[in-house]
Amino acid sequence: MRPAILFPLFADIRTLSGVGPKLEKLIAKVAGPRLVDLVFDLPVGVIDRSYRPKIAAAEPGRIATLEVNVLDHLPARVKSQPYKVRVSDDTAVMELVFFRALPDYLNNILPLGSKRLISGKVEKFKERWQMAHPDYVVAPKDIASFPLHEPVYGLTEGLAPKSLAKAVRGALEKVPAMPEWQDAAFIKQRRWPRFGEALATAHGPAHEADLSPATPARERLAFDELLANQLALLLIRERMRGSKGRAVAGTGELKAKAIAALPFALTDAQLTVLAEIEKDMASDRRMLRLLQGDVGSGKTVVALLAMLDAVEAGLQAALMAPTELLVRQHLASLEPYAAAAGVRLAALTGRERGPQRDATLAALAAGEIDILIGTHALFSEDVSFRDLGLAVVDEQHRFGVHQRMKLQSKGRPADVLVMTATPIPRTLALTAYGDMDVSRITGRPPGRKPVETRVMSAARLDDLITHLRVALNRGARAYWVCPLVEESEKIDLAAAEDRAAMLKQALGSAIRVGRVHGKMKAAERDAAMSAFKAGETQLLVATTVIEVGVDVPEATIMVVEHAERFGLAQLHQLRGRVGRGQGKSSCMLVYHGALGETAKARLQTMRDTDDGFVIAEEDLRLRGPGEMLGKRQSGDEAFRLADPAAHADLLAVAHDDARLILARDPELKTPRGEALRVLLYLFGRDEAVRYLRTG
Ligand code: ADP
Ligand code: MG
Repeated sequence: MRPAILFPLFADIRTLSGVGPKLEKLIAKVAGPRLVDLVFDLPVGVIDRSYRPKIAAAEPGRIATLEVNVLDHLPARVKSQPYKVRVSDDTAVMELVFFRALPDYLNNILPLGSKRLISGKVEKFKERWQMAHPDYVVAPKDIASFPLHEPVYGLTEGLAPKSLAKAVRGALEKVPAMPEWQDAAFIKQRRWPRFGEALATAHGPAHEADLSPATPARERLAFDELLANQLALLLIRERMRGSKGRAVAGTGELKAKAIAALPFALTDAQLTVLAEIEKDMASDRRMLRLLQGDVGSGKTVVALLAMLDAVEAGLQAALMAPTELLVRQHLASLEPYAAAAGVRLAALTGRERGPQRDATLAALAAGEIDILIGTHALFSEDVSFRDLGLAVVDEQHRFGVHQRMKLQSKGRPADVLVMTATPIPRTLALTAYGDMDVSRITGRPPGRKPVETRVMSAARLDDLITHLRVALNRGARAYWVCPLVEESEKIDLAAAEDRAAMLKQALGSAIRVGRVHGKMKAAERDAAMSAFKAGETQLLVATTVIEVGVDVPEATIMVVEHAERFGLAQLHQLRGRVGRGQGKSSCMLVYHGALGETAKARLQTMRDTDDGFVIAEEDLRLRGPGEMLGKRQSGDEAFRLADPAAHADLLAVAHDDARLILARDPELKTPRGEALRVLLYLFGRDEAVRYLRTG
């Protein structure tokens, strides 16, 4: 249960005075539905109104606060004209310009002959001083209420800056005095303010510098969030490890047979990570390991060998992939080696139904299937293994912590190996996967040639198609990616269809064009993929469903349209689809319209490097972590106060701190432990608190 002290913060924003249903909706959109969301919505800018020149000395274009006398009103003669009010000080006259303003209102706030403090952007047109729609008009007696420094928050259409700022102020007033959950000595050493004070400071910037992630207030808040995150991950990890694992040691017999059947030698990197995995499996602790390896680094074969390890020990293994397509692909690529080793494989996806499914489930329960490959259908209630020893989860970024947990609860504690091709920077790996040990495959299998990458404007599409036609007629195979870019999937699919039709026509009847997209039935999609794999079609026009894991070594050309709309990690994934075989490969990144600075920098990065980790770091730098680890990609919550790129050092400290805390106070029962429970709830890590035995 959430502690009572947090109740005020978790109240709905509509409980704030002045927030009605309409405003509530808008605020919920930018911040969230509760007060805590508002107080965690830190300013993104600051308006400095402390510049107080005389009119004649004011710098045009700058926000200034002026003390003026109201000279006269010049109402608009026609409706389309603005209403003007002339004001002055002892240096010059200035016109205040109002469009569509009500005269009564203006007479009320700017009565003739009165003294007023006004604030807004000063402009000068041909020696005439002007200010359009002053942000503030204040009578001298109300000067105390005038904000010389105003925080600026992220907005959405229809949400007035002042309304949001007022709501945030209201929410801040409700922040209760909290117990200190951080180590007192540490706080002192860092000279960090207390939580409430840090919030107030972070929301009251006076200068740009106050918005920096490196201010004591922002650092403190970031550290709170990071610590909550790390504690939660550790608690989940402890819980997963709570039940003892078992020692799974293979004989090496099946592995030797499979390795003998491989058409290549394992790389040193593959051997190293395999050794790490085997060591984990052989220990009686439960394995919880993340295998990171760039696209095409050869993770699948490592997974196979680890699974054979379990089979040798008389147990079963499962390989879970995010899509039907990938399940089929894994099945096809692992089959020959499984056959060589005399191991029985089967698939289980949403497509297996009726008697066939029943037969598979029966065989699984009887132990007649050694390795089961499937989608999340593996989680179904009625799936039971005779004895599952190892669960491998491929392309992890599609699944969240909760799904990982679910796999855990299947039968006896199985070892878990999670594979991801998304090159997650170290800093992020710690936040998202802090609960796992990490193995990395560095480098790629030998013989890979770099993919030549070109960035080009869609204006040159005709040239591109001409080259493509020549290459395809010579027997090349190519992908053409039309991403989902519009709000409406329907429009996108129509665009992709149009493109396919256009290409078909432009390439001539000798070239067969296939299509795959996310809306297709799994069977259709698989058919399209296998036709491409078999060379029956030479060009595959796709939406991004080919992003993850598809392996067609003969494909050497990748065209990505609207490349400017992709994240770097995604582009890297797409490019990784080519350069897998003998042929020289190329990747064309086609942009539409004019490129902005950031987009230019990103595409340049793609051209300059093919190192997934460099690309990921760059992506993080250019895009911020929100998107990289946003809900969509990670399945886990993104950060609100911490910026894993800027606070990387704090992240490492939080990680160590969390370990230390749980080593000393595993149940969080000391006074500080109690305060840390509040922290966990504050950041919505309720789940983790439940794992404490005395909750
Ligand atoms: P990913 O890590 O992206 O899942 P895969 O496991 O699909 O990569 O491997 C990509 C390709 O590289 C596959 O065709 C695989 O057979 C091949 N491969 C894997 N290991 C090696 C190796 N040691 N030498 C040569 N080719 C390899
Ligand atoms: Mg793979």
